[in-house]
Amino acid sequence: MSQKVRVRFAPSPTGPLHIGGVRTALYNYLFARKTGGTFILRIEDTDQARFVPGAEQYILDSLAWLGISPDEGVGADGPHSPYRQSERKALYKQYADQLLREGKAYIAFDSFEELEAMRTLYESKGSAFQYNALTRVKLRNSLALSKAEVDALLASETPYVIRLKVPAKGEIRFQDSVRDWVHVHTSSMDDKVLMKSDGMPTYHLANVVDDHIMEITHVIRGEEWLPSAPLHILLYQSFGWQAPQFAHLPLLLKPEGNGKLSKRDADLGGFPVFPMEWTDPQSSVISKGFKQEGYLPAATLNFLAFLGWNPGTEQELFSLDELVDAFSLERINKAGAKFDVNKAKWFNQQYLKQSDSKELAQVYLPNLPAKDADAFVQLFLDRVTFPQELGQLVHEFSQKPHAYDEVVLATKWNLEAQKGLQVLAASLPTCSTWDADGIKHTIHVALEEAGIKMGKVMQMLRVALSGNGAGPDLMISMQLWGKDEVNERINAALSVFPKLVS
Ligand code: GLU
Repeated sequence: MSQKVRVRFAPSPTGPLHIGGVRTALYNYLFARKTGGTFILRIEDTDQARFVPGAEQYILDSLAWLGISPDEGVGADGPHSPYRQSERKALYKQYADQLLREGKAYIAFDSFEELEAMRTLYESKGSAFQYNALTRVKLRNSLALSKAEVDALLASETPYVIRLKVPAKGEIRFQDSVRDWVHVHTSSMDDKVLMKSDGMPTYHLANVVDDHIMEITHVIRGEEWLPSAPLHILLYQSFGWQAPQFAHLPLLLKPEGNGKLSKRDADLGGFPVFPMEWTDPQSSVISKGFKQEGYLPAATLNFLAFLGWNPGTEQELFSLDELVDAFSLERINKAGAKFDVNKAKWFNQQYLKQSDSKELAQVYLPNLPAKDADAFVQLFLDRVTFPQELGQLVHEFSQKPHAYDEVVLATKWNLEAQKGLQVLAASLPTCSTWDADGIKHTIHVALEEAGIKMGKVMQMLRVALSGNGAGPDLMISMQLWGKDEVNERINAALSVFPKLVS
């Protein structure tokens, strides 16, 4: 019987969640939904020095905004509670002690200064220092010192760490869902610290212990963790546990495609790399967020899904449910994914066009009468990338023209057009139903009676009203300007346009 899928997103609350982290969360979520599994949120906060207040809440808020909240974990609870590693501290110690008892780990007393001195010494000889099978015999640890020496150091409360005793010879092999086979020789690995001198586990120990206890079946995480994976496999082997299936997601690359995407790229390019706005608690510096920039959650998800995965078809627009259906680990790319903010904007426009105009009107044009606001949104929706641009467009739209398109004037301003505008100046004030249809009807009837073709007048009417030769639907625009304003603008234009006489 196949095991029930359990995946986790395991961020460290060291600052705002990077958009790459959100993609990791999304892929975990999609895989869980696709396989009928469980999506868990575990907070990896064992590095006290890097803890940032507010970061955990930010992670929860970001996932909630996108609608990919965890089934289990911080913010949702579950059978393996607590899901915050700082609250599981005692547990890790037991497992480190188990490895110590079994001779698979050892105690090391080397101070920071002593290790630094070793590094400098090795560097001066042109090599890099590693705490490993070759060097540990000469260092201050429970493998090299006598039992009496170790006991004395412990009795005098000398700070110590617990290190994994990596075998001198051996090969670690595992098949990653994205990278395929990975082989590493243990001689290239160092004896990583498992427990720090402050009594906290390192990321490696806590991560592996928790993945095992929480019955994680698939570890889907960023490529930056690939170098740690052999160590994690070795830890599983040391405990005698079965390792989960790994899938390391491709890096997010700079917009130009060379090098890892950084916050600096975002600042230079003026685009966000965080899901939501973030105010640094220390510097008060504000970083942009997708949410506040006006990206819709569905557009953000669709954009992120394509950063490192593709459905293998031409289809680009996917709702969250469709993503769940189409998603598979097999279709994740090995190559880094170029972060193209123009693509993000394109997705936003597509989703904006599909949005409910009444809802947008309520949120973004609260000061306009509902009917006008809705008409306005319909008029301009395909001209904006972000919904908050609607407010600015209303403002521009309501301004009287300060100049008139000279090219149109030169080519279209003739006796017939002048006559037509005069006819409209006289007839539009009599229009009894001032909406797009009513206005159209009045114009039609008036011009027909005067024997003037609509085509000879309409562009000049637009220039008279807006100053521009082209723009959104003119009848709806006139409805929105209102009867008085329209008449005022036509009369103003007539007084400014050259007087033509036959
Ligand atoms: N705490 C690690 C991070 O911040 C988790 C890496 C993993 O998923 O194993 O990304």
